[in-house]
Amino acid sequence: MLRVALYIRVSTEEQVLNGDSIRTQIEALEQYSKENDFDIVGKYIDEGFSATNLKRPNLQRLLKDVEKDKVDLVLLTKIDRLSRGVKNYYKIMETLEKHKCDWKTILENYDSSTAAGRLHINIMLSVAENEAAQTSERIKFVFQDKLQRKEVVSGTIPTGYKIENKHLVIDKEKEYIVKSIFDEYEKLCSVRSLIDIINNLCGELYSYNKIKNILKNELYIGIYNKRGFYVEDYCEPIISKEQFQRIQRILEKNKKSTHNKNRNYHIFSGLLKCKECGRTLKGNSKNINDKRVYLSYRCSTFYLNKNCIHSVTHNEKHIENYLLTNLKPQLHKHMLKLESQNEKIRQMKRFSKKDEKKNIMKKLDKIKDLYLEDLINKETYRKDYEKLQSQLDNITEEQESQIIDTSHIKKFLDIDINEMYSNLSKVERRRFWLSIIDYIEIDNNKNITINFI
Ligand SMILES: [Zn+2]
Repeated sequence: MLRVALYIRVSTEEQVLNGDSIRTQIEALEQYSKENDFDIVGKYIDEGFSATNLKRPNLQRLLKDVEKDKVDLVLLTKIDRLSRGVKNYYKIMETLEKHKCDWKTILENYDSSTAAGRLHINIMLSVAENEAAQTSERIKFVFQDKLQRKEVVSGTIPTGYKIENKHLVIDKEKEYIVKSIFDEYEKLCSVRSLIDIINNLCGELYSYNKIKNILKNELYIGIYNKRGFYVEDYCEPIISKEQFQRIQRILEKNKKSTHNKNRNYHIFSGLLKCKECGRTLKGNSKNINDKRVYLSYRCSTFYLNKNCIHSVTHNEKHIENYLLTNLKPQLHKHMLKLESQNEKIRQMKRFSKKDEKKNIMKKLDKIKDLYLEDLINKETYRKDYEKLQSQLDNITEEQESQIIDTSHIKKFLDIDINEMYSNLSKVERRRFWLSIIDYIEIDNNKNITINFI
């Protein structure tokens, strides 16, 4: 029996434009295999991938299996599933021919054994290539149009939403899952420790990657930001912008950290920056004996073998002690700085508002003069008067949007930090520093500068 691999592909564009689906291809190929008594050894499905290049995970997996001589025949619906373009087609054929693997399309008829047949294939591939170029032009318009109307553009629905009349709306039954993922992550600062909690909570399987993708998805603050399109207020947000930004920061820092919860856990991973070259300091650990471990940081150039004069190692304990002694005085200074900035902003706003008001009052006077001198009629005067008056009403009192809230800093200044800190676990300590410090700079002479958020 012939060992057959089914190759199925649909691009996002094809899904949007033509409603092409993976399912119809699978069904057709399975039916054909059954009729011809083929033995299906694998299904290779690339969903959301274009055929203009070879960077497709399942195509690559298929070619690897061909190389291992696991496949006799690759079955497709049409040739453009495999490739759009002559060059890539021949690259794929090279592997197939080398391993005596055949290919066949069930909806089109080709014969690669004759010159005329090969010409036919070349023509079809060129047509498909041209189509792809046109599709991507066309899809830009379709996408733009749909996005402007805030309509759904792809088949995958993010957790916490459902589709209603082509729009994403909050799925009230699942909203809590998304909220819990964000809230718990902010508490735990680790996706791994989140998995069990979330799976217990909702009785569904949420993988590491799924949770991570949710945490990074801007749709949850209402923004569509994909494929070069950026649309605000695309859907109703589930998460506040402030929380989302706080979480992106933690994710970013954790990316740079060597994340393990054992005794080699580095509290400051991703938070320390080399003052000499700007790179992140990397954590290092040395076991002293069974119970003690020496944790330190070093400019990452040391490991990369690039030039930086920063050659000393920094003991984690030293950094910690420095921060604990200097946090309050520096935080106090930082708060005073913010407050004086806030005051400046307030003054500026008051000033510009005053100007604006004066301007409108002047205009009101002017139109009254014009009316009294019979240069405009009553109707025009009334219209202009109403317009200006409403502008005047619209100048509302003090918008505090640009003012930075310092209340959380005040809160820190009031507590006994040393006492609080001594009761924290390592993970909690890291979370504590992440919540107030943006990054810490250290130079070769061990001078430390704290940069607050
Ligand atoms: Zn450096």
